[in-house]
Amino acid sequence: MSDPDAETVRAVEVPAPGEPFEVVERSLPEPGPGQVRVAVEACGVCHSDANAKEGTHPDLSYPRVPGHEVVGRVEAVGPGVDAWEEGDRVGAGWHAGHCFTCEPCRRGEFQQCANAEIHGVTVDGGYAEATLVNSAVLAAVPEELDAADAAPLLCAGVTTYNALRHTDARPGDLVAVQGVGGLGHLGIQYARAGGFETVAISTSPDKEPAAREFGADHFVDASSDDPGEALRELGGADVVLATAPNADAIASVVPGLDTDGEVAVVGVPDEPVEVPAGHLVGSRSAVRGWASGHGRDSQDALEFSALRDITPEVETFPLEEARAAYDRMDSGEVRFRSVILP
Ligand SMILES: [Zn+2]
Ligand SMILES: [Zn+2]
Repeated sequence: MSDPDAETVRAVEVPAPGEPFEVVERSLPEPGPGQVRVAVEACGVCHSDANAKEGTHPDLSYPRVPGHEVVGRVEAVGPGVDAWEEGDRVGAGWHAGHCFTCEPCRRGEFQQCANAEIHGVTVDGGYAEATLVNSAVLAAVPEELDAADAAPLLCAGVTTYNALRHTDARPGDLVAVQGVGGLGHLGIQYARAGGFETVAISTSPDKEPAAREFGADHFVDASSDDPGEALRELGGADVVLATAPNADAIASVVPGLDTDGEVAVVGVPDEPVEVPAGHLVGSRSAVRGWASGHGRDSQDALEFSALRDITPEVETFPLEEARAAYDRMDSGEVRFRSVILP
């Protein structure tokens, strides 16, 4: 956390695309109109931080501070902010702001804003002792959640929670979570808590005990079994939440969809996904995408997680070890989420 008397804060920057992280001193940012300054207690490390690290998003400029799973306390409030005050416990996720004037915004679809800002991509994020956040995108963080546990809920949590609650699945339906990693291990917990018959699909058979502990009723070892066939044997999936950013893995579950089933893609592979259209037509099923949520969605995910005692498993790192935190996420070695504690 930042020292309120200090003129500077430490932050981790990506100096240029593909360059290693650098720990730098920056001047203490002053909140502008509508903004608050958040003293960061924890920031999760997400696969999408690769956008900033590798320069793969078109709206990037450098240097950039990554991070879009931010939890902390409001320590300064800019002009025109009425809803939040100093000391409030808050979180910020991927969605960093919307314009209120584009077509999606005029329809209240702020998350789909054509001019949306993104934490850690178009504006600086949470790999820092303090960061500025547009007050319109804040989520209130329940006091009973530990900061390191709450941080991953701001992206991995809200993304899986929100994707699942926007499907047509009802209690008792067969819901599979493909990938048992940062997103998947939360997705399994939400699927279980949502009342679904829950399937975990992973290419790592050693993750079966953990997946069952998170609440999976079934485990499909995709390294030896065909996931589509396995899902059909279980009666066909109403929903597959695809969290692993792998095009072949996503394609492999489509033949396992039941009538009107859907694959909700939340992990974005670099390559296009080739799907068997015959099965989509025959089963009236669909492959669709889902992206995180706005501030209130995040707050819903946080509140539900606190209510049902759903927490991520995290490995924590000090700010200076952001590179190790990122590398363990990037290599898939982390169990199950890296979290930076500035
Ligand atoms: Zn993310
Ligand atoms: Zn807009």
